[in-house]
Amino acid sequence: MNAATEHLSARVRDWVASPRKLLIGGQWVESASGVTFPTHDPASGEVICQVAEAGAEDVDRAVQAARRAFEDPAWAGMRPCDRERLLHRLADLIEANADELAELEALDNGKSKMMARYGDLVMALDFCRYIAGWPTKIEGSTLPVSMPYYPDPNAKFFAYTTREPVGVVGAIVPWNFPLLMAIWKLAPALATGCTSILKPAEETPLTALRLGELVQEAGYPDGVVNILPGYGETAGAALVAHEGVDKVAFTGSTEVGRMIVRGSAGNLKKVSLELGGKSPVIVLNDADPEMAAPGAAMAVFFNHGQVCTAGSRLYVHKSKFDAVVEGVAAMAKGMTLGSGLDPNTQMGPLVSRQQQERVLGYIESGVSEGARAVTGGGKPDSRGYFVEPTVLVDTRPDMKVVREEIFGPVVVAQPFEDLDEIARQANDSVYGLAASVWTSDIGKVQRLVPKLKAGTVWVNCHNVLDSTMPFGGFKQSGWGREMGRAVIDLYTETKSVCIQY
Ligand code: NAP
Ligand code: MG
Repeated sequence: MNAATEHLSARVRDWVASPRKLLIGGQWVESASGVTFPTHDPASGEVICQVAEAGAEDVDRAVQAARRAFEDPAWAGMRPCDRERLLHRLADLIEANADELAELEALDNGKSKMMARYGDLVMALDFCRYIAGWPTKIEGSTLPVSMPYYPDPNAKFFAYTTREPVGVVGAIVPWNFPLLMAIWKLAPALATGCTSILKPAEETPLTALRLGELVQEAGYPDGVVNILPGYGETAGAALVAHEGVDKVAFTGSTEVGRMIVRGSAGNLKKVSLELGGKSPVIVLNDADPEMAAPGAAMAVFFNHGQVCTAGSRLYVHKSKFDAVVEGVAAMAKGMTLGSGLDPNTQMGPLVSRQQQERVLGYIESGVSEGARAVTGGGKPDSRGYFVEPTVLVDTRPDMKVVREEIFGPVVVAQPFEDLDEIARQANDSVYGLAASVWTSDIGKVQRLVPKLKAGTVWVNCHNVLDSTMPFGGFKQSGWGREMGRAVIDLYTETKSVCIQY
């Protein structure tokens, strides 16, 4: 036990004291190879516990278990109202264990326990309960057919559609919101009658495994949810390529998203992708810097910048540029860095040494090309994987720090003059996940919003993700929309039925 884990509760301490296993067909099992891997506390670099590492053989066993469960009348024949009841029971169990889950998330990911409890867990619960209402509302339609039919041109038809579960779903999620991303995938699968195999990120497998225990406690039939911690190149790739998987739901980088599209081509399984972003925050000349500066700071520093919608490009009208940038820099400078388990911490470490080095590499590249750090730019003296919150100015549109997703607490700030020009600058990216506009002029909102190529546009706010709001990206930020009623489409197939009578 290390300094960072001194705040752990006895329950979490006990839970991580034994190696964790895979969940396949309702049983907690070792991997076929017997191999395990360590998961680390990013605030100290120390090992938390060993976790069974799934390989291709385990993927195959889990896909078979998920297929059996999908076809078993216990699940396939379950009434929609009972699928609702089970989802509510799962939500109640998550809520009853929310403190423990938040602690586990803070330990494994590095984010603050408060943030995990009142951000991640609240959102996960809200979505779980939102989606619990859907099973009884997945409707088809009746269709007014006019087709003449041979040999009886007066034949009568009754045609309608139904929606059926897509089947066995492979869910692959990243480490930035481990439990929340797992719920974003598993809950709609459970609502629609699919079965699933979840591969959590190798950096953060723990809350997914604890969720697996709660799924069992809720009373789901064996094999409806299977959980396979392991590495992307092995377990993840095997799941994507498996002919027995009907759909892959992925959240992660655009680079891996491309691999998933290629890897899934064998059986042309359905694919939904939530990928990277480089989201612009646009502060217009009439915006109040007192509101826009903290808004812009939170847009990028929330979750240490490890957010796909992070407001990592800040565009401020030149009349307000100095005031807003000074405000963002002051907030960055004032943040207390520390372990997520320490109640005084405002910003925790990044998730891994690799991620810390990647983010510091981006800052160095920006500075070497002529950018200037108004604040931050380095790492504090610590064993943990910390990076100082950083504001870069004097950037040019062609710099790597402006073009590529950094996925850390780094924002590039640029002044602009012309409202018509700013949409072009904001859209100058391969990504199109989100954008925010800060103004009190509704006319300017109406001029700008239709021009922005982004899946979500916020006005006078940023990073508001609600269960009712479809979420996903334009351009290389992804395929499909999660949340809202749109997510039901991702997990169902439409069947047209035409009856001659
Ligand atoms: P990542 O490398 O793309 O990994 C995401 C998941 O994919 C992990 O579980 C990973 O396993 C797995 N994976 C890696 N290679 C694979 C392969 N060849 N086949 C199948 N699965 C594979 O992303 P990350 O670095 O963990 O997360 C950061 C990225 O995710 C950022 O770019 C961010 O923008 C994006 N993201 C997007 C959203 C969104 O909703 N749009 C949300 C969060 C994050 P390992 O754990 O072994 O790597
Ligand atoms: Mg870890």
